[in-house]
Amino acid sequence: MENKTIIKRTRIYWDRVIIAAICLIALLLVITRIASGIFSGNKASAQEQTAHSTEKPEESRPESVTPEKISYDLTVCIDAGHGAQDSGCVNADSTRLEKNDNLAISLRLRDELEKYGVKVIMTRQDDSFLELEQRVETANANNCDLFVCMHRNAYTGSMNGTEIWVSNARPKEDTVLAQNILSAVEKVGINNNRGVCYGYVGDENVNYYVNSHTKMPSCLVELGFLTDESDNKLFDEHIDDYSKAIADAVIKTSVDLGITDKNGKRTAQKPFFTADKTALSKTDTQRKKPASVIYNADEKEY
Ligand SMILES: [Zn+2]
Repeated sequence: MENKTIIKRTRIYWDRVIIAAICLIALLLVITRIASGIFSGNKASAQEQTAHSTEKPEESRPESVTPEKISYDLTVCIDAGHGAQDSGCVNADSTRLEKNDNLAISLRLRDELEKYGVKVIMTRQDDSFLELEQRVETANANNCDLFVCMHRNAYTGSMNGTEIWVSNARPKEDTVLAQNILSAVEKVGINNNRGVCYGYVGDENVNYYVNSHTKMPSCLVELGFLTDESDNKLFDEHIDDYSKAIADAVIKTSVDLGITDKNGKRTAQKPFFTADKTALSKTDTQRKKPASVIYNADEKEY
């Protein structure tokens, strides 16, 4: 009886030892795994940091990096309206010529876009004369993805503000480009948002030549009235801000239209030629020079 009791006690004792040993081994295993996980995690993290410092993958780009550091795989044609003997519109005392304002902002816009790594094609970079066909050919032959034509407006009476013209075929891509630019310059400050317009001033059945013959999304910006002194004041004071805003709008358009992603990587075919705007137009497009636009139908000056 006594022996049985001893045996029984001994069995219980070993059971406990075995259970305790199993628990201890399990605990050790857990501790070892956790410790190993922490160390390997630190190692991986250290390796990751080393990789970042050399390769800088896009997804790890810190917020502090300015957009200018991103390179956009995008080609943009900037067309400074008029030039040389074609001065465009003029102010009351002929001291201000549209061609000069157009070139001044176009050159600044080029610089701003180049900060984004954009390849910029200029139709003119000095006071030279170009036919409308040459401007369009420059954009099409260089496989530009977007076309931005810079002008200033004119009116014989009192009128101010900014408007942007698009083909009367109303291509959605062109409208996005125009709307983005209009919203951007409005944030800088304009006298009046005159909206995105389709066709040609005074006749919606015809188009500005550059809008209907370019193969890529295009728009013609009328950045304030040169015949309005308050618009001129805004233009002079904010020319750098307008340039930056339009460049930002072009980049936004590239992302909105899926030409590139927000990191500048190309996501669309090259070039980004869209619908044939000539074919889409309501009527055959006529050759219209976007020069010295006058709103009175009776006083058209081209
Ligand atoms: Zn003009």
